[in-house]
Amino acid sequence: MRSAPVAETIFSRIIRREVPARIVHEDDLCLAFHDVAPQAPVHVLVIPKRAIESLATAAEDDAPLLGHLVVVATRVARDLGLADGYRLVVNCGRHGGQSVDHLHVHLLGGRPLGWPPG
Ligand code: AMP
Repeated sequence: MRSAPVAETIFSRIIRREVPARIVHEDDLCLAFHDVAPQAPVHVLVIPKRAIESLATAAEDDAPLLGHLVVVATRVARDLGLADGYRLVVNCGRHGGQSVDHLHVHLLGGRPLGWPPG
């Protein structure tokens, strides 16, 4: 079973081009664009076009879509020249620091990233 439909967020409006974004990749399943408040020299978000609220509400049948987001993120990383490495992050829920309830993969790179995260 797929995840249930969710309430609209700013990301739905970006998908519909009602809100501008610096898009770096688009295909039938997802969109990737630069984060408006970058936390690293490269900070791109990869989002599914079909909104899923979070990893916690993703369903088993969403697995291929989730995999696609990761594959696209790695391709964007390559295209943006992140040869020294990068990090993919999915914040989930309040303790995970999720602020937009439309699942998204953060691609961060362009500088050494600290560990553990805050
Ligand atoms: P999270 O805190 O994991 O939910 O990440 C949400 C991300 O969306 C944050 O890094 C925000 O800076 C980013 N964001 C919010 N609104 C926009 C927007 N209009 N365009 C691009 N990125 C956005």
